[in-house]
Amino acid sequence: MSPTALEVSKQEPEVRPAAKLSTAEFRVGRPEIVGPEKPEAPFPIVLVGRVQRGFGRGGKDLGCPTANLPDDSITPMSSVANTGVYYGYAQVVTPSGDSTPMHRKDAKVLPMVMSLGWNPFYKNEKLTAEIHIMHEFDKDFYGFEMRAVVLGYIRPELDYTSREALIDDIEFDKQVALNCLERPEYRKYAQDPHFDLQSSVDIQI
Ligand code: ADP
Ligand code: MG
Repeated sequence: MSPTALEVSKQEPEVRPAAKLSTAEFRVGRPEIVGPEKPEAPFPIVLVGRVQRGFGRGGKDLGCPTANLPDDSITPMSSVANTGVYYGYAQVVTPSGDSTPMHRKDAKVLPMVMSLGWNPFYKNEKLTAEIHIMHEFDKDFYGFEMRAVVLGYIRPELDYTSREALIDDIEFDKQVALNCLERPEYRKYAQDPHFDLQSSVDIQI
């Protein structure tokens, strides 16, 4: 296998292999569904962490807010996976003691797309794991706990010559993720015991 995201993150940014460009041919030829009928190693990968503030670009620039996981919560994935776009399930859990809990409809286990990488279009220096949950939330959930089960890989991390091309790929990623998660062996993970437990995070005072 090519080096894991963690191995690459230890290299100097100058020697890091550059992400390939997403071409119009790539975008036209993308498959609607990817991966095997059943999750295969290294999946499922379980992640949990308190949602961090990023640069605020996902929602504003791209129409796709992404909840960022803290650096120390990424290792279970970065140590076994390459950078790229992934699909799975996620759940936002209200910290115990919070007086403004999530509405029940927002606290469900929901389909998600995730990016693990350096966001080449934005030339980030730091490896990030960001999750877009396919759901309209009533409010933001910075500081809340996010749990995720990553079940499959969609595509490599790519660079873009335009914001519109990046948005096209993201919209397609969401559709691919939903198609992939429809398969019975993936749907099962929405009931994974990793979800629905009481939050391990306490409200910050
Ligand atoms: P940031 O750079 O701070 O991550 P974004 O523009 O990517 O900013 O917005 C992410 C934030 O938006 C999340 O931390 C969360 O609080 C909120 N949010 C609202 N809806 C969603 C959603 N469907 N998926 C992920 N985050 C969402
Ligand atoms: Mg974000």
